[in-house]
Amino acid sequence: MRVAREIISFSQQEMQSRNFNVLKEIGVKVGKLSCIDPESLRFAFDMLKKETELSGTELKIETVSIEAVCRSCGREFIIDEFVFICPGCGSYEVEVRKGEELIITHLTFE
Ligand SMILES: [Zn+2]
Repeated sequence: MRVAREIISFSQQEMQSRNFNVLKEIGVKVGKLSCIDPESLRFAFDMLKKETELSGTELKIETVSIEAVCRSCGREFIIDEFVFICPGCGSYEVEVRKGEELIITHLTFE
């Protein structure tokens, strides 16, 4: 809910500062480690947007995999199923590089 609200207020500010009346689409990237469930985010967004000038705006959500690098052997890999073990050397010393973020990637105005 809070995240959806932030996306909406950010987009409203952008619309105002750029003098657009219609926002067609908002693109966001959601990391798998960000604790945000894409379906709940879409649901909250669709509910909140009705009260605003974004009622016709589409939210496009892309999920970002968890990318990690091994501190022991330097191997870079994608983490599935939340197993934080290096597939190369079996080390637990892995560092997460990507997957914790929520980024607004684009706003499409009309
Ligand atoms: Zn390793």
